Amino acid sequence: MTDFLKRCWAVVDLDAIAHNFQQVRRRLVPTCLVMAVVKADAYSHGDRYVAGELARQGANWFGVSNIDEAISLRRQGIYQPILILGSTPAENAALLGRYAITQTIFSAEYARELQQQAALAGVTLDVHIKVDTGMSRLGFAAAEEDQVAAAAEEIAGVCALENLRAYGIFTHFSCADEKDPGSEAFTRRQYALFLKVIAALSDRGIEFPLRHCCNSAAVLRYPEMQLDMVRPGVILYGLAPSPDCEGLADLKPAMSLHCVISMVKELKAGCAVSYGRTFTAPQDMRIATVPIGYADGFDRRLSNNARMLLHGQYAPVVGSVCMDQLMLDVTHIPDARAGDEVTIIGAEGERAVTFDEMAARLGTINYEKMCLIGKRVPRLYRRGGEDLDVVDYVRQAVREKP
Ligand SMILES: *Cc1c(COP(=O)(O)O)cnc(C)c1O
Repeated sequence: MTDFLKRCWAVVDLDAIAHNFQQVRRRLVPTCLVMAVVKADAYSHGDRYVAGELARQGANWFGVSNIDEAISLRRQGIYQPILILGSTPAENAALLGRYAITQTIFSAEYARELQQQAALAGVTLDVHIKVDTGMSRLGFAAAEEDQVAAAAEEIAGVCALENLRAYGIFTHFSCADEKDPGSEAFTRRQYALFLKVIAALSDRGIEFPLRHCCNSAAVLRYPEMQLDMVRPGVILYGLAPSPDCEGLADLKPAMSLHCVISMVKELKAGCAVSYGRTFTAPQDMRIATVPIGYADGFDRRLSNNARMLLHGQYAPVVGSVCMDQLMLDVTHIPDARAGDEVTIIGAEGERAVTFDEMAARLGTINYEKMCLIGKRVPRLYRRGGEDLDVVDYVRQAVREKP
């Protein structure tokens, strides 16, 4: 199954996903549901096997970004409720109905459009109401105390629409991952505003059985805000939401990245490496050419600024990262040979290279590095220490089995 994995590939450890899910589960009261967030193809891990594993572990709901991701989950046999966290063109009302997908309602105007299209299509749609308590992204505005009454008024109007069935309400935190006092106060304020909107609706006789607000960071840092359901994403994949959340749970990174050396060559002192000659050998050295580049998601800004592992040792990236290849300094690893395996992300013995390290070098967040692992990289799924299957998006697209 893995014979053809001789370029660059990702290994997704489903046991790690299961372990991380249970780390979430154990922090919750038994009645609290878990919506596993699997948007962006399960943060690039591949939603097919990941969602299946999460369902097996007891995920009650799935969260996605758009209708295509939702339909893809349905086609893969996921029968749990699915919430689209973003906007769906109202013209897709019939599809939402056909696939029994729950849509987020974030404004009165959007609710009216969706109501109209749902009525035309002859469907009644399940929806969750999104309240904006300070993220300033989607949602009915309630970021200030004096907006609560108007938000409740508008939401009550949505709840009266005939073809929309609103039984969930949620908000999203903007800085639950940060532990400075300002961020903590802001998170608590967001939570309080959310509860005020819910109370104002309750006064009107409108109740929501599913109230939810916790992302990964809030699951770890504010378990008292779990309400009826939580929406973890990044921790299911084994990464901390931010450095401030480091060590708050025993997480296992689910994805590792590997490739094999294409060739090893001797370089004379003074020879330059790669495009732009940004690296010149200070003395005689040995370099290894490896088949991963920026088209695979290995950021070009990591040129001369990253490291990989081989034979249990770190090897620095030298010269510019190319589209499909880059070079490593292996002078200090004399037994490095063509065909040897390189760990791009992952551990070898005591040493590791992580998405966190890569993100720190680039001044960004681990989420982004993970999501940008390209579709050209086949994903090998492993469970119980055994290889389960390979998903290769490119070969799939040309309808050719490995
Ligand atoms: C992405 C997302 C989540 C999950 O966030 P993590 O930080 O990965 O846990 C939860 N809720 C909403 C609305 C999201 O967009």
